[in-house]
Amino acid sequence: MRIDVLTLFPEMFDGVFSSSILGKAREKGIVSLQAVNFRQFSTDKHSTVDDYPYGGGGGMVLKPEPMFAAVESLVPADGPRPRIILMCPQGETFTQQKAEQLSNEEHLIFVCGHYEGYDERIREHLVTDELSIGDYVLTGGELPAMVVIDSVARLLPGVLGNETSAVTDSFSTGLLEYPHYTRPAVFRDWEVPEVLLSGHHGRIEAWRREQSLLRTLKRRPDLLEQADLSTKERAWLQGLREREERLMERPSAHKNEQGDK
Ligand code: SAM
Repeated sequence: MRIDVLTLFPEMFDGVFSSSILGKAREKGIVSLQAVNFRQFSTDKHSTVDDYPYGGGGGMVLKPEPMFAAVESLVPADGPRPRIILMCPQGETFTQQKAEQLSNEEHLIFVCGHYEGYDERIREHLVTDELSIGDYVLTGGELPAMVVIDSVARLLPGVLGNETSAVTDSFSTGLLEYPHYTRPAVFRDWEVPEVLLSGHHGRIEAWRREQSLLRTLKRRPDLLEQADLSTKERAWLQGLREREERLMERPSAHKNEQGDK
């Protein structure tokens, strides 16, 4: 995969593109990553990339000419058209599903804004996608682009050492991931669940699935609507919900149940 980033601050990408898993993926030739300063595509003598907004108001607006010229310089005349992704708090909220979709592309171009905003013609006539990393506003699109690039690149075959680790990640399965433990088996009197020490593959898988369901029910019940669950799992979760509702209505029942143990 080829990834180009258009930014006014290419140096911000140096560490991220050369460290850890992204750095290794780049060394292995799985992904090519480059940050390009679109200021070099400005044609006036001051290398201007922004201007005051028509109609007045605060903040500066990124001009269309340097951005169009920069993107056009990166798009091969005869190859397939790349996805051109504008980082923008007003865009579609980025998700694991979107990361999976983008990981199937051959070429991605990210456009990072700064200042007040972009000339609307960039949004309307240049880009193919607008992505937000959440309902908050950052000073520029560089950090959001890094977030998206990292999550897309780690899905490319050969990037993660263990191919299965991305498959069981939270959201990939539609659920949150189960808890992990490592040595020692007892730490400050806190014990690792016995099943994980049993060596019984089937019981371990069943425990992990159950923990994944419980964790999702507790932390992100909204995900369960879309998750791929068996009829038995749906019935089990429904039973847990109903039990919880009963306990909320009659707290004394909770005390009695505790006492019964
Ligand atoms: N005035 C803009 C608005 O209200 O939508 C916000 C501009 S923001 C200060 C500058 C740039 O940071 C944006 O153009 C975008 O590239 C980036 N940015 C800020 N927050 C973001 C977010 N949550 N997701 C993606 N990009 C973001």
